[in-house]
Amino acid sequence: MLRLTELTLPLHHPDEALPAAICKRLRITPRELVRHVVARRAHDARDKANILLVYSVDVNVKDEAGVLARFRKDRNVQRTPDTSYRFVAKAPEGGPRPVVIGAGPCGLFAGLILAQMGYNPIILDRGKVVRERTKDTWGLWRRSVLNPESNVQFGEGGAGTFSDGKLYSRIKDPRHLDRKVLTEFVKAGAPSEILTEAHPHIGTFRLVTMVESMRETIEALGGEYRFEHRVDGLDIATDAQGERRICGLHLHNGEYLAADRVVLAIGHSARDTFAMLQAAGVYVEAKPFSIGVRIEHPQSWIDTARFGADAGHPILGAADYSLSHHCRNGRTVYSFCMCPGGTVVAATSEEGRVATNGMSQYSRNERNANSGLVVAIDPARDYPGDPVAGIALQRHWESLAYVAGGSSYKAPAQRLGDFLAGRPSEALGTVIPSYRPGVHMTDLAQCLPDFAVTAMREALPVFGRQIAGYDHPDVVMTGVETRTSSPVRFTRGEDLQSLNTIGLFPAGEGAGYAGGILSAAVDGIKVAEAVALSLSGERR
Ligand code: FAD
Repeated sequence: MLRLTELTLPLHHPDEALPAAICKRLRITPRELVRHVVARRAHDARDKANILLVYSVDVNVKDEAGVLARFRKDRNVQRTPDTSYRFVAKAPEGGPRPVVIGAGPCGLFAGLILAQMGYNPIILDRGKVVRERTKDTWGLWRRSVLNPESNVQFGEGGAGTFSDGKLYSRIKDPRHLDRKVLTEFVKAGAPSEILTEAHPHIGTFRLVTMVESMRETIEALGGEYRFEHRVDGLDIATDAQGERRICGLHLHNGEYLAADRVVLAIGHSARDTFAMLQAAGVYVEAKPFSIGVRIEHPQSWIDTARFGADAGHPILGAADYSLSHHCRNGRTVYSFCMCPGGTVVAATSEEGRVATNGMSQYSRNERNANSGLVVAIDPARDYPGDPVAGIALQRHWESLAYVAGGSSYKAPAQRLGDFLAGRPSEALGTVIPSYRPGVHMTDLAQCLPDFAVTAMREALPVFGRQIAGYDHPDVVMTGVETRTSSPVRFTRGEDLQSLNTIGLFPAGEGAGYAGGILSAAVDGIKVAEAVALSLSGERR
């Protein structure tokens, strides 16, 4: 089979235009084209008067060798890559059971792959099973009641469960592990279009049922979940060679769990666990992250700005955007985790703090588009010397946001025009914010670092020139967005084990090796493989 890439057709093309374009491109007759399947479809809306669909197509032709020879210098005509997944090991009968800490996308895929290889993993999560967790999460959004152990960050499914469910990333993935992730998601109930759409998303409702379905699969394979089991301590021994090895875990309920292979997939918000790991001497370093606000526009403005007369076309869906600006003060402002047709959500996991994020349903048909508008923080510049000072920084601004919002879990918000003018907002304009449990109109500059305020004031008019209406004075900004990624990295070696603790496999977003659902899941697969190889003696 051949893969033909970068095949462009107008948005409004009839079905038969695709095989015709394939034949034209490969210089074959329709009778020589045996079969074609769309492998990927993206759109190119750079010219909104002429939006294009960009296809990758897998094709069977009568004379494959001849076509390949004719196009041997054309990188857009290649053999279809083999994206099937192959397990790296098979567990022996009765071997030791690896432990996975965290049931987010990373832990879920680490657990799944280990279970599929026969290792009967034990998966621990501090939070609750997903249905119970959903009630607790809504408790904050509807009643301003936070459960610090069961919320938008903690519990089955991890941080991405209440999200837009965007499933793309920019990671290098030569082994096509993303395909394994998407295939498992489809088996668990995701729409099959995620296998072909260039920017797939699944929305929050489906994620909940998919997470449940994957749990059932893991359990049927011999894996075991233990919810409301927070890991509070590591048992580390020094071996005869003077190397630190993990031997077991101390749980918050007083239990001790012996374990010599532990996947650490705790996400970016387990700040108490970060502190515990640092105290236990696990190698940790500071990592850049970003800080800013959520910004909300009517989705119709974004659709019109991006798609013009084709706004609302079903193939295009609700429009997204990606923006970036390098500022005179040396900072970069960029859009983060854009959620078309979604809502801004309360994403704190700690009492007395406010943090924002975004989510949407599969339909993406809420009134507003929202996105993080964030400014990059560089540890070497902003807090040199202390690997975990980024956590204190996040907490500081989240606490100020709590106070600025009225100390009730309402979020501080401001009209963009007032933000640019440096005056507090007193009332909303035409844009109605979606944040629950509500917003308090104020001055966001009191809960953001000065450099971020300066950079955002410079970037907003620039973005307004790229997307008409982006810097409209009534646009609402809600603060603070602090949890863009982990502020720390638990650095690992080539064998994917902690640099100084054998048997501990830091993984996913919290360990600093992923940013988003797909990359965290891919990292979970890699780490599961590393665990299996170390258990089978092929690696340390
Ligand atoms: P997490 O998903 O954070 O999972 C970590 C798990 O570890 C949690 O379940 C936690 O309870 C558990 N845990 C922590 N400490 C302990 C402990 N001591 N003991 C036991 N268990 C512990 N990404 C996208 O790609 N697309 C999106 O659309 C998207 N939207 C998002 C929307 C929101 C509201 C949020 C919060 C995040 C969103 N993200 C999105 C980011 C994405 O969710 C994360 O990148 C991803 O979940 C990271 O996966 P992970 O498994 O590494 O960590």
